[in-house]
Amino acid sequence: MQRRSFLKLGAAAGAVYASSRRTPTLASTVEPRIQRYVQLGSTGLTVSDISFGGSRLSDSSLVSYAYDRGVTYFDTAESYRGGASETAVGTALAGVRDKVIIASKTRARAGQGQREIMSALENSLRRLRTDYVDLYYIHAVNSIDRLENPEWGEFTERAIEQGKIRFRGMSGHGSKLVQCLDYALDQDMVDVVLVAFNFAQDPTFVEQIKHKFHYVSLQPGLVEVLDRARSKGVGVAAMKTLMGARLNDMRKYESQGATFAQAALKWVLNSGRVDVALISMTDEYDIDEYLGASGASPVADLDTDLLTCYVAMQGSQYCLQGCGVCADSCAYGVPISDVLRTRMYAVDYQDAQLAMDGYANLEGGATACLNCVEQTCLGACPNNIPIASFTRDAAQRFSLA
Ligand code: SF4
Ligand code: SF4
Repeated sequence: MQRRSFLKLGAAAGAVYASSRRTPTLASTVEPRIQRYVQLGSTGLTVSDISFGGSRLSDSSLVSYAYDRGVTYFDTAESYRGGASETAVGTALAGVRDKVIIASKTRARAGQGQREIMSALENSLRRLRTDYVDLYYIHAVNSIDRLENPEWGEFTERAIEQGKIRFRGMSGHGSKLVQCLDYALDQDMVDVVLVAFNFAQDPTFVEQIKHKFHYVSLQPGLVEVLDRARSKGVGVAAMKTLMGARLNDMRKYESQGATFAQAALKWVLNSGRVDVALISMTDEYDIDEYLGASGASPVADLDTDLLTCYVAMQGSQYCLQGCGVCADSCAYGVPISDVLRTRMYAVDYQDAQLAMDGYANLEGGATACLNCVEQTCLGACPNNIPIASFTRDAAQRFSLA
């Protein structure tokens, strides 16, 4: 089926939302709450199946709102909102610390000493108003040399002995994600992994839609390594579960109480490949919508139609996180998928600060794209993402800001 005819079908399927309307009409009048709690690998930690992603957080009342509705796992990082995310989590949860799971992260560079890493952890603990975190991740790993740093391993051992960390983890969404996960699993250096994973990265879903329009699975190794993690008892948390979260684009196709966000969350939770889905919670309406997917009820045909419609609209706009297919196509070494991820924060999430913070961590970013005439990246993406025009757009947005 061609994209245009698919979109027409979607529109005819009974749109109930005006296209400008932001808030969905949820199917139930019952206050949405967490319906299911799950084990996080072999850690013994029990967490809500839909949990709080704090990358865009600075308002502690949202944490309280989610906690009051049964969310028990709150994920943050020292770098989120310059520490304001940790402060918001700490402020909201100070009185219920023993009832929640708190995760934080640090970038821990290759070669960084354990004293400096310990200092980063202690600063996080101060902002979080606690003397321990349940999970501590080495953040946004995309090169094995950061995992090979013996100082990281010695730091985690010491911090666990001192009771400042309960479990260790690794998070990632870069082009070398699979290799990094393999290394971390081989070395038994993680109890939990936090990875970008959504319906469009699941070969089972891609198999269903590939006869309708051109869309291919680019990360066959990702599901294998996630399955391997689970078979070893390593907990798996998924992020980027909404594939860019262009929620407003989908409102006019939603009907009968189904929403795109709930469909995407249901898909991930039913995939059998993750324990828990993390999602950025940025307002109360979003939280209510997301919690409506808790319980992992089966994915209905209506849900699959929404996901398929979304891929038809966004498939050539959204860079699959952790895909490395185009990684060697740039002679200037631009980290293409990382640059496109920060652009996604700006364009899809409409979150300029998150985008700028992320871009600032990319050495060199996409500056080379501004004057590149060769554009050897053109045609390197099997899903037809116009790499050069997107990376140049990112460079113009961020380098010159
Ligand atoms: S631009 Fe395309 S090929 Fe490159 S990382 Fe993104 S999805 Fe993969
Ligand atoms: S436009 Fe040029 S510099 Fe930028 S990613 Fe493509 S090949 Fe690399």
